[in-house]
Amino acid sequence: MARYTGPVCRLCRREGTKLFLKGERCYTDKCAINRRPSKPGEHGQDRRGKMSDHAVQLREKQKMRRTYGLQERQFRRYFKEAERLTGITGENFLKILESRLDNVVYRLNFARSRPEARQIVLHGHIEVNGRRVNIPSFQVKEGDLINIREKSMGLAHIKEILELNEGRGVPSWLEVDLEKGKGRVLREPTREDMDMTFQEHLIVEYYSR
Ligand code: SF4
Repeated sequence: MARYTGPVCRLCRREGTKLFLKGERCYTDKCAINRRPSKPGEHGQDRRGKMSDHAVQLREKQKMRRTYGLQERQFRRYFKEAERLTGITGENFLKILESRLDNVVYRLNFARSRPEARQIVLHGHIEVNGRRVNIPSFQVKEGDLINIREKSMGLAHIKEILELNEGRGVPSWLEVDLEKGKGRVLREPTREDMDMTFQEHLIVEYYSR
C-alpha cells in the first residue's frame, strides 16, 4: 500500500481526534479539529448511529497506525512481533512503536511532528551512538545516545525547530539537552509513558479475528 500523501488534517478529522501530524499548527486555533470537527467528505455530517464492534476496532487501529505514520503491512508485522514476545501483546506492540527512531526523535523534541521526525531521520541528520542512522524504523534501546549531527545543528530549519520546541517536556524514559541536540534513552518505555488515549486491546481484538 502506498504511503498516504494527501492532506493530513483529513486523517485527524476522519478519526475525530488530533493525531498531531502538522507540528505547531496542531497546537493553535487553526487546527482543523478545532475548526471543522465533522468527518471529512460529502456526508461527513450524516455519519451517525452505533458502530459495530468491528468498526470500533478498525477505527482504533487506523488511529494508532496514522499517529505513527505507518503502512498497514509494517503495522501488522509489528503486531505479529509483539505477539511473539513474552508479556502483554498490546503493551509490547506500543513499546515497539514508541521505540522507533523517528518517534524518539519526535519525543526528544528534535522535530515538531512525527512526519517531520521521519524526514529528519531520512535526510541523515541523526546519529545513534555516534553513527549516522537514516532508518526511521530503527529500534532504540536503553542507554542509546541520540543526537543531531554536528553539521546539521547549523542548519536554519533545525535551529528553528529547536527554538520552537524549547521548554517542551520529554517523557521520563528519555532525557535531552535540546540546545546541544543530544538525547539519551534512560530505559524502556512503559505503558504509563505512552499515549493513554489508545485502547490497544481493540487492536489486539482486531488482529485476532
Ligand atoms: Fe491534526 Fe494537526 Fe491538522 Fe489539527 S492541525 S487536524 S492535530 S494534523
